[in-house]
Amino acid sequence: LTQLFRPLDMLGMVYRTIRQGLTDMAEMFRLIDTHVEVADAPGAPALAIRQAGVVFDNVVFGYDPERTILHGLSFEVPAGSRVAIVGPSGAGKSTIGRLLFRFYDPLSGRILIDGQDIRTVTQTSLRAALGIVPQDSVLFNDTIGYNIAYGREGATMAEVEAATRGAAIADFIGRLPQGLDTEVGERGLKLSGGEKQRVAIARTLVKNPPILLFDEATSALDTRTEQDILGTLRAVAANRTTISIAHRLSTIADSDSILVLEQGRLVEQGSHAELLRRDGLYAEMWARQASEGGEEDLVEAAQ
Ligand code: ATP
Repeated sequence: LTQLFRPLDMLGMVYRTIRQGLTDMAEMFRLIDTHVEVADAPGAPALAIRQAGVVFDNVVFGYDPERTILHGLSFEVPAGSRVAIVGPSGAGKSTIGRLLFRFYDPLSGRILIDGQDIRTVTQTSLRAALGIVPQDSVLFNDTIGYNIAYGREGATMAEVEAATRGAAIADFIGRLPQGLDTEVGERGLKLSGGEKQRVAIARTLVKNPPILLFDEATSALDTRTEQDILGTLRAVAANRTTISIAHRLSTIADSDSILVLEQGRLVEQGSHAELLRRDGLYAEMWARQASEGGEEDLVEAAQ
């Protein structure tokens, strides 16, 4: 009898596998569906970067159409300026970054770079123009050199070396016996949070994008390392359009303009000094962070 059941059992397994396969297919189609939503328009041209100004024009967005996250958001990041986005958790700060990269399309409204709606240009050209220094930089289990050169296909050794200087990690690499050929990650050298961050900055420098998005680049670091890296980031940001998504206000107090977002709406906008005078949400957040410690940092940053 067992002999008889074994094939049936097998059949059951095959059936389950197929069914699982179908579920996976359905999931895949759902993903493809989402992907189709952000497909290139037929015959889309490449994004033509002139000065790299960014505009959000009345952008409405929700991951789920039933739940709107951004409610008609409009703001401008003038070419070459440093703009910060702050606000309580869940306000929609990171969502703005995802829309800029076109991982999703707005439900209505437009996002423009140098006057071009990002939906009308190729995604390859759009993403080539954008650089991100994320919160947690992911490094490949490969050499430091590979991790930096990954920033742009065809990057030369001279460009990689220049990037290590720009990211202030050249001295550190120079002291390693194998230099840029040192393996990192599980297979090799364990880098500290700050060193990893600098490798990521060097990678972005190799990419050399006209628009930079900083996603609280320094959150995991101690104050000293954070201040050092902030200095490096400021140098990297010079002459580029920069959008910083920040939790710690001390890191963005010197931005050209600060956008204060609350529940997907822009509630305040101005320089640090203007926003303090306004005595609204920003001033309240600033006072709260100052009382939570790091007051010296805040004072230093405000100067
Ligand atoms: P934080 O400061 O906590 O990082 P944030 O201001 O960056 O928050 P977002 O990450 O933009 O906020 O999230 C805004 C809202 O969108 C939140 O309510 C969140 O739950 C929701 N959200 C974020 N990502 C997704 C997703 N992939 N699918 C569905 N909802 C999401």
